[in-house]
Amino acid sequence: TQPRLAPWPARVVLRPSASTRSYAAVAEARAVLEGELDGIRAAGTWKAERIITSKQGPQINVDGSQRILNFCANNYLGLSSHPEVVQAGIDALKTYGAGLSSVRFICGTQDLHKNLEQKLAEFHEREDCILYASCFDANAGLFEVLLGPDDAVLSDELNHASIIDGIRLCRAKRLRYKHMDLSDLENKLKESQSSRMRLVVTDGVFSMDGDVAPLKGICDLAEQYGAMVFIDECHATGFLGARGRGTDELLGVMDKVHIVNSTLGKALGGAAGGYTVGPKPLIDLLRQRSRPYLFSNSLPPPVVGCATKAVELLLASNEIAQSMTAKTMRFRNNMTQAGFTIAGSAHPICPVMLGDARLASLMSDDMLKLGVYVIGFSYPVVPKGKARIRVQISAAHTDEDIDHCVDAFIQTGRKHGVIS
Ligand code: PLP
Repeated sequence: TQPRLAPWPARVVLRPSASTRSYAAVAEARAVLEGELDGIRAAGTWKAERIITSKQGPQINVDGSQRILNFCANNYLGLSSHPEVVQAGIDALKTYGAGLSSVRFICGTQDLHKNLEQKLAEFHEREDCILYASCFDANAGLFEVLLGPDDAVLSDELNHASIIDGIRLCRAKRLRYKHMDLSDLENKLKESQSSRMRLVVTDGVFSMDGDVAPLKGICDLAEQYGAMVFIDECHATGFLGARGRGTDELLGVMDKVHIVNSTLGKALGGAAGGYTVGPKPLIDLLRQRSRPYLFSNSLPPPVVGCATKAVELLLASNEIAQSMTAKTMRFRNNMTQAGFTIAGSAHPICPVMLGDARLASLMSDDMLKLGVYVIGFSYPVVPKGKARIRVQISAAHTDEDIDHCVDAFIQTGRKHGVIS
């Protein structure tokens, strides 16, 4: 029979039996959690998840509607459902099985994993590479291994949550510099001169604004003050720079950025996985000590197969990456001409700035009615008063898709008085 919760508040149970006490504890926890959830709803920051019933791509089926234009995936190069990428996943599944049932160092390393690590090191032109289950894990596992209490880490205040968490786990002195502010970074570098090692940590591209870190200036300062440079390239790998190598290529500092973390879950096929590339001794030490690597299962072979094919496609040609740039500029220019404010400059993350959280949410609902799937972002994901709809362009979008999206924005923007 199902246990029944005590009909009175848990705190007034005086001498409960062991089982009654545990039910009361659950009831109390339930009340606390419901209170938290009510608070999120009341603040208007509830994140509802829409159910997609097709594969990822420029057109998806969502919430019962067919062929909705999708402008909110990180599928920058359209490789998530690329036939060759999918086939490589199927082949790996058949040859290598569904998974390893093991961490890497016990019996979870296949030639497939080593091959992908070698290809990623080649792609980024770094000495070596280590795979993780996600870039969140790569960020969680790096700093604790590299930096000790005698070292200092200098981190942009708007770095991704996984970087913030990773830094929390390490015992280095922590200095947070103002977003993309080189003079504040310089002050913090001066402040940290007595530390054994210094590491400057920044997103290559910041995902909420699509703004690119001033890497040239960061690298110059790092050189001047004897620091290493780390970048998180989740929103750059595969498509920024002449050959899609990332922000460091775009800004001409590939030889001055020492460590790169990135994801396989966005442009590189979109399945899952993350990695660190950098100096060999660092990668060797991560294999020995990095906790998310040591204590978590190996990446499944089909995932590795898909990512490997994505990297091979990019190593062979930069055509896909280049086609995305033209589409990004088509969207940005047409939207600006229509009277919208688009943050950032040339990145496929195109935040349509609206200010008000409710407006962003209402407009994205209206866009869906017009067949375009976009998402409104508001506090606490972005600062208060800076709500926006974040549009993401993919190489897989056609010019007609972009024009349809702009038309839908014009229609909803007029309806809500955002443009005239
Ligand atoms: N870093 C940045 C800048 C990201 O945007 C993300 C994903 O949202 C991550 C790290 C985490 O990547 P993954 O999805 O591979 O865990």
